[in-house]
This record gives sequence, structure tokens and C-alpha cells, in this order.
Amino acid sequence: MTLDNTESAKLKELDLSCIWHPCTQMHDHEANIPLIPIARAQGVYLYDFENRAYLDCVSSWWVNLFGHCNPYISAKLKEQLDSLEHIIFAGFTHKPIIELSHRLLELLDSKFGKCFYADNGSSAIEVALKMAFHACAIQKKKKNKFICLENAYHGETIGALSVGDVGIYTQVYQPLLLETLKVKAPSGENFAESLESLKTLLQAHKEEIAAFVLEPLIQCAGNMNMYSAKFVQEAVKMCQEAGVYVIFDEIAVGFGRTGSFFAYQQCGVVPDFLCLSKGITGGYLPLSVVITTNEIYSLFYAPYEEHKAFLHSHSYTGNALACACANAVLDIFERDNVLENNAILSQFIWKKLQVLQEFGFVQNLRHQGMVFAFDLGGFEGQRKGLEVFNAGLKRGLLLRPLGNTIYLMPPYVLTKEQASYIVESLVEILKIFVDKFANKTKV
Ligand SMILES: *Cc1c(COP(=O)(O)O)cnc(C)c1O
Repeated sequence: MTLDNTESAKLKELDLSCIWHPCTQMHDHEANIPLIPIARAQGVYLYDFENRAYLDCVSSWWVNLFGHCNPYISAKLKEQLDSLEHIIFAGFTHKPIIELSHRLLELLDSKFGKCFYADNGSSAIEVALKMAFHACAIQKKKKNKFICLENAYHGETIGALSVGDVGIYTQVYQPLLLETLKVKAPSGENFAESLESLKTLLQAHKEEIAAFVLEPLIQCAGNMNMYSAKFVQEAVKMCQEAGVYVIFDEIAVGFGRTGSFFAYQQCGVVPDFLCLSKGITGGYLPLSVVITTNEIYSLFYAPYEEHKAFLHSHSYTGNALACACANAVLDIFERDNVLENNAILSQFIWKKLQVLQEFGFVQNLRHQGMVFAFDLGGFEGQRKGLEVFNAGLKRGLLLRPLGNTIYLMPPYVLTKEQASYIVESLVEILKIFVDKFANKTKV
């Protein structure tokens, strides 16, 4: 694709000589997957060193909301940079985080009372699991088990992996993981069996279960499995009646992704812990937060000698630069009618995508808010998603499918023209793909 002595090729070589990339079989970079040095990014586009543009259809792993190098967020970050970058967050505090916490709590149901910060999604899950367990322990309840959904993904540290169930991430580490109880994953309106299995688990084990962890409405890394708000509502009610805490992982589905500001707001129930990250800084800097109730907070609030403090900490907790970005993100939500505009854009994309139904192998075309997905059916064990990814790159699309599930999770600043280009390109890609497949079967 590129000449050998270009700056790009040199960077690629230098990279591979010293870097081990995440979520990658590095061997794939020999032939299957290119490694693309990016020189700059603007709006929905990444630009390589030959100035080729790649439309970021996946919001750079679901973190970007308002485009790369967003002028407003960048300005706010630069402003913050000149007064305070980062300080120890125990015994000291700062304005950006106080403002952010008040604004987040205001956006949430009044049931929530406190924000506990960390610096990535997996850590937020660890915090929530530990807090739930610890809250039970303080109440002299010996509860050391968690319930999660089959096909769940909550991050990749050991605790977070334990409440996950996506084989490629968990399998090898199984001997290290906490024992968890799994509920059959709901799918669409198909959730009666899931509720039944949850009910059975709760009846048998509620005395041992600290919390139920789930991603409301969409299991994102679980191949964009979308399911009914009714399931969430019923499941949460069951847990709360059984005295089991509920942890909502809104790391991917929060900040407007599913249509409402937070996904739980479509479900008519409120969890005991809400984990947020990814979109929180608009894709600028790592930050996560676990939001919980005053009721839970007060369990830990006691004289030092009672040893009830929650001593979890990360060095970069409450980073002021990240908080400044998060406040800028909330400003944009307030200023730009983001949710209303997304609803219109979402309908537009959804209508356009219907053209894909003409391909027999496009299965289970689905959407929820600003998430769109379909599966390449009938290719079990074949890396067809990878072929779509590579064909996408040639047309200037950054797609990065989940196995054979192709999805769009674009930044909210995507224009209708850009959306149309994505869909038209997908049609062309899937056509090549059909031809290739047809040729292969003919031989
Ligand atoms: C990405 C993600 C996580 C983990 O967040 P990291 O910042 O990658 O550790 C956890 N839960 C969900 C639902 C996610 O999408």
C-alpha cells in the first residue's frame, strides 16, 4: 500500500520493534491487518501520513462523542492546563471535579448522592464490586458472590473479567477468576427465560450474592446484543426485593449513546451503583466514576478506629485535566440539543441501513440510539469481519468489527452526508464480499 521508505513505513517499523498493542494478535500485523500511523485527527476523521482520511465509525473504541480535536473541548483543556494539571486527590480537591460531580448528580435521579473516581472503565467496575461486597461486610452479611449475564463484558482486570463472559477475553484466565453466577443473556424481547434463571439463582443464593452487574440495554462488547428495557426493569426489581445490590455498567452506553442521557433512564429503575467512563471526557483523557447512594456511603462513614473506610485508590484519580474535558462535554450537551439531534440522525441512519437487508447474509440488523449493528451470518469460524474491516480501510472507513458483527457507533457530530457515505460504502464492501465468496464457492 505504501512505499517502503515513507515516514509512515518507518514509523510502523519503529512501532513494531518496541510496542505490544492491546487487543491484538501481533502476528496479524505481518499480513492480515495493517498498522496505520496516524498523523492528526479532526472531527470524525483520522488522517495518516499520506493524508488519507479514515472516518471513525467506532468513535475510537467508543470514547469520542464530539469529534477529534474538538475546538471547544481543546480550548477548555488548554485553559485548565495553565492553572492546575493534577494533584493528589486524598486530602485535597479542586474546582473542576467539584463542578463535575455536582453536574453529574444533577443529571441523575435524585436517589444518587456520591461520586467516587477512578481512571478507566475496568477500575470503575473493580470499585463497584469492592464497594458492594464491602457494604455487605459492614452490615455483617457474608456475601461474596456476584451475578452477571452470559455474554457480558465489563473490562479486563481480574475482577472485571470475573463478571464477564466473552470467551476470547476470559477463557485463559478462568483459573484466576472469582466464581460468579451467570444468568442467560436476554436478546431483544426474548427475556422470559433470563428472568426465570435470575429468579432461580436469587431463590437459591440470595444470602451469598452481593450484587448483580449488567450493562443496561446493550451488551456492547458482547457483539452489540440489544435487549429490552423491560428485562432490566424486572431484573432490578427482583434483585432489590431479594436484598441484592445492582451495578449498572454504563461505561459504553452512557452519555447519550442509547438515546437517553443514561440508559437506565429508559428502564424505569435506578441501580445502587452506576459506572461511567469512555464518553465522559469526549475521548480526550482517561477518567471513570462510580456513582452511588448516600445510603451506601453512610455505611462506610464512621470513626477511623472502626476500620470502615473504603481505601481503594489510583494515583491519577480525579485528574483535573480529565475533569475539565468532562465539564466541557457536559457544556456541549447543554448547549447543542445533542439528544434531540441524535434522535433525528439515528432515524436517518437507520432508514439508510435498510438497504443492507438485500444481502442474504446480513442478519439481525438492529439499532438503539447511536448504535447500529448486523451480523454476517453463515460464516462460523471464518474471519469475515476482518475482510470487511480491511475493505473499509480502502474506502476510508475505520470499522473494526467485533468478530463477524459489523457495527457503527459514530461520534455524535457525524453529518448526514458522512452517514450516507458510510452506508453506500458498506453496500459496496458487502458486494465485493459477495463476489469473493461466490468465486470461492464456484472453484
Ligand atoms: C470498555 C468497557 C469497559 C472497560 O473500560 P476500560 O476503560 O477499557 O477499562 C467496561 N465495561 C464496558 C461495558 C465497556 O464497554
